[in-house]
Amino acid sequence: MILITGGAGYIGSHCALEFLNADEKIVIFDSLENGHIETINALKKIGNFDFVQGDLKNINDVEKLFKNYKIDTVIHFAGYIQVEESVKNPQKYFENNVGGTLNLLNSMVKYGVKKIVFSSTCAIYGEPEYIPLDENHKKNPVNPYGETKLEIEKQLAEYDEKYGIKSICLRYFNVAGADSETRIGEWHEPETHLIPNILNNKQTFKIFGNDYDTKDGTCVRDYVNVEDLVKAHKLACEYLKKENKSDCFNLGSEKGYSVKEVFDCAEKIIGRKIDYEIMPRREGDAVILLANSTKAKKILGWNNEKTLEESIKTAYLWYNYHS
Ligand code: UDP
Repeated sequence: MILITGGAGYIGSHCALEFLNADEKIVIFDSLENGHIETINALKKIGNFDFVQGDLKNINDVEKLFKNYKIDTVIHFAGYIQVEESVKNPQKYFENNVGGTLNLLNSMVKYGVKKIVFSSTCAIYGEPEYIPLDENHKKNPVNPYGETKLEIEKQLAEYDEKYGIKSICLRYFNVAGADSETRIGEWHEPETHLIPNILNNKQTFKIFGNDYDTKDGTCVRDYVNVEDLVKAHKLACEYLKKENKSDCFNLGSEKGYSVKEVFDCAEKIIGRKIDYEIMPRREGDAVILLANSTKAKKILGWNNEKTLEESIKTAYLWYNYHS
């Protein structure tokens, strides 16, 4: 059985959907602090699984989970994800992300669970020294969120060495889009991410900084489609089973788009002008992030198929359905 932590959240729920479609046995663990029961209910219409509400920070919740389910592999999404909030309140991020993962790993040791796929991030690299970023790039996070993810990667390496737990760290670039059948999608409260904020017609869209050293002055990111992204988790589980060794992989589309380009693309899809205003730079933002995903393609056999346009289209369908 596969344990999915954070399975009521954005990427975790799309991953759960992928595994349900493949008839895999899963149990979802989520505190519902940021995840949604409605997402669990939508998944329940697709396939059978158990949902356990609990907090990784609470060791009793975690131990009970491992006692009650015969878990073979963990896919670990649960964690706080807001860069700006992490700058304001690093302690909250270290306690939850690093502390919670420690409880998870210690329970894995106790219950003899040896495989974990971890939801990491390109934020562990910080400001790129070269582009595109490969897995060997220097790790120098520019915000506490990225620091917590890097710290967890280090924990995982230690737990491999000391306890033989094999891990695959999947370093996501900017994840975008929604289930192509609009059953689940991106749902954060508050929403801080670019695409849902552009689509949100209840507020004026804010561009955070237009004085960066890029083609149009706005930050450049690599947007990878969520349905493409979650496929890598299945491949990572298969890899762990077959190869039984730890590794890390960048997951991105290998194409860079500026904030303004994403905005222009969204305007085209929506078919009308969107109001926007220029704001100061947002603290903790890197100027440009762009993936080299050759390793994931070569070793995992992963492929990035969907375009930015397709991601914005599914995000828009989800926004209309959900709002
Ligand atoms: N961004 C923006 N307005 C928003 C949200 C994001 O201009 O309402 C910019 C942000 O400054 C960054 C890019 O869009 O340059 C992507 O931000 P997001 O929060 O989606 O992802 P991150 O790169 O922080 O993981």
